[in-house]
Amino acid sequence: MNLARFPRIRLGHLPTPLEPMERLTRHLGGPKGGPRLWIKRDDCTGLSTGGNKTRKLEFLMADALAQGADIVITQGATQSNHARQTAAAAAKLGLACHILLEDRTGYADPAYSASGNVLMDKLHGASLSRRPGGADMQAEMEAVAEAMRAEGRRPYVIPGGGSNPIGALGYVNAAQELVTQASDMGLRIDHVVHATGSAGTQAGLVAGLVALNSGIPVLGIGVRAPKAKQEANVLALAERTLAHLGLPGLLRPEHVVANCDYVGQGYGIPTEGMVAAVRLVAEQEGILLDPVYSGKGMAGLIDLIRQGRFGREENVVFLHTGGQAGLFGYPDAFGLPAETPR
Ligand SMILES: *Cc1c(COP(=O)(O)O)cnc(C)c1O
Repeated sequence: MNLARFPRIRLGHLPTPLEPMERLTRHLGGPKGGPRLWIKRDDCTGLSTGGNKTRKLEFLMADALAQGADIVITQGATQSNHARQTAAAAAKLGLACHILLEDRTGYADPAYSASGNVLMDKLHGASLSRRPGGADMQAEMEAVAEAMRAEGRRPYVIPGGGSNPIGALGYVNAAQELVTQASDMGLRIDHVVHATGSAGTQAGLVAGLVALNSGIPVLGIGVRAPKAKQEANVLALAERTLAHLGLPGLLRPEHVVANCDYVGQGYGIPTEGMVAAVRLVAEQEGILLDPVYSGKGMAGLIDLIRQGRFGREENVVFLHTGGQAGLFGYPDAFGLPAETPR
């Protein structure tokens, strides 16, 4: 596997740290002990408060420049972390950026529609337009791109979440980074767990870990689709990513596992488990998770640990995919008092 064959622009602070979570390990271990918990800090990729999309954008933005684009178009939910990181990457490279935001939650809270990621999209100079929940966002982007081409512009359309075989190379790279880091530390990784949405992160990770013959299983905790659909999306993209790498035929369906029991009422809608997970990790580790992805991913991991699904002393790496900016879009979700009492 030779990633250097693919055009790439450095946008992230890489490698991101791989750290033990000692207090959380003790807290969840109970008297009989539990798995050892580690965290891969892809919330620290550095671009506009960081997150997993930065790794994908290293390959996607290189492709946009190679194609002579003068504007990038992408889409996401209102509090999209992908939109924010794309806007920042475009700013850094001197490209214009237009973002289509889908109202997937129907929240009327002004913080949800204007603070957090939305504020940052605007600070990076992106233009925004909104679409109702359930719109065909890919078709909406194509229509916007067509209108721009008619005006003589050169748009480059990035799919939601940056999830295509080019973007997924960012997580093939992360797989390589993780395996190298673990081997330098003498760490045997038994499981990687992370939040999975548009599938590019899990597809790239699985593709990379399989291509490296690492034997490390990945568990995606779903935030939107039901299990069968999520696994099919990840599997299809992982296959296309391996084909793009020139390594077809390595993947087996059992390499792709998603658990979609922690979505709750829907994408971007808080759950009790998410609130508890965000608060617990903030209090035990001084690490901020996010309400839409990593909070639900951690809620799943915590529940599975409590069910005894991981062996004692097994090393479990939680991939922190970022998203903390989204906390400011959900100021009332955490059951915290509005003011500190005197
Ligand atoms: C996009 C995102 C994910 C999910 O990654 P996909 O590649 O879309 O599956 C997880 N966490 C955060 C914070 C994200 O922004």
